[in-house]
Amino acid sequence: MINEVMYGLGSKSSVIRELFSYGLERKKVVGADKVYDFSLGNPSIPAPYQVKDAIAKLLEEPAEVLHGYSPASGDPGVKETLAQSVNRRFGTHFTGANFYMTVGAAASLSICINAVTNPGDEFITFAPFFPEYTVWVENAKAKLLINPADTESFQIDFDAFEGLLSPMTKGIIINSPNNPSGVVYSAETIQKLADVLRRKEKEYGHAIYLIADEPYREIVYEGVEVPYVPNYYENTFVCYSYSKSLSLPGERIGYIIVPDEMEDSKRVMAAVNGAGRALGFVCAPVLFQRVAAMCADVPSDIAAYARNRDLLYNGLTELGYECVRPQGAFYLFVKSPEPDANAFSERAKKHDVLVVPSDSFGCPGYVRISYCVAEKTIVDSMPAFKAIMEEVKA
Ligand code: PLP
Repeated sequence: MINEVMYGLGSKSSVIRELFSYGLERKKVVGADKVYDFSLGNPSIPAPYQVKDAIAKLLEEPAEVLHGYSPASGDPGVKETLAQSVNRRFGTHFTGANFYMTVGAAASLSICINAVTNPGDEFITFAPFFPEYTVWVENAKAKLLINPADTESFQIDFDAFEGLLSPMTKGIIINSPNNPSGVVYSAETIQKLADVLRRKEKEYGHAIYLIADEPYREIVYEGVEVPYVPNYYENTFVCYSYSKSLSLPGERIGYIIVPDEMEDSKRVMAAVNGAGRALGFVCAPVLFQRVAAMCADVPSDIAAYARNRDLLYNGLTELGYECVRPQGAFYLFVKSPEPDANAFSERAKKHDVLVVPSDSFGCPGYVRISYCVAEKTIVDSMPAFKAIMEEVKA
């Protein structure tokens, strides 16, 4: 007998992965330049040159040290450097002791969720949301409640939120800049969220943790400000990753911040260490901990994403597609021009345009278009998007 839940997770690939695999096969048949694959969120911009330089420099060090274990929470020098960098940017006063290095945001989130969860606990997230949250919350034996999307602005629908909060609420998961909507939660939204949570903490007599999933923090356009969540709410976990900001998704490197202001912060940090241990992470890759520290102040190169966003947003809205203009990340969340977004995705597939139907993001009726692709893919796909729209309207 095997674990049927794990079997289910391992044997069913996600809609996104299925589309991506389909695209690879289809490219073999019709040619790579004839398939417009907008399925995956794999950064299309190469890692900045400073990453390569840092790796080259580090490889000159004695291999047995460079490739050895670090302490479970990460290299102390790395954590201190990252803390100082965050402090300079966001006016915080962290030290290395507030940091726990991870293998990316996925690990950051699953560790935080496991660190605070007891049987029967509930987490709330806001649609549209990253589908893996369900996997991580359920694996910690908790329940994920979905706050419906505010489809006007894709900020938070607070009326619905009040109805979901209860004494069972252990945490709230937010993701801004958002995958898949591209929206950045405003300072007003974060402040309001903090106010509601503080009121509810008092009412229930226990902490409610705000888990800020931030792999896209640096990918924002026109200088949009992404509020730094710990500056608004004490019981915040920051879950960060270099997958998108430095285009290093395959190297698996990120961190968790547990601020001193968090209730019982020392015990919580011990539980974070315990969850990392129980999940078998041991320590984050040491070479890339060091690279992250050496590149702590390297800006993300987002020029190509900004160009792609404009091309796609302007092109699609001119053709009659509806969507909010993304302020960050590299996704466009487009209203399906026909009621069933799955049918629309299938229709697009026939034109070799691969877009992800939104059901798994908890917000049916939309498709996600990842624009971390070559500019040419966007330009060349426009006639197909036009033909699809004409077909829907016919
Ligand atoms: N959270 C969101 C919203 C994401 O989009 C992703 C990856 O696409 C992750 C977490 C996981 O990122 P990582 O590669 O850092 O584990």
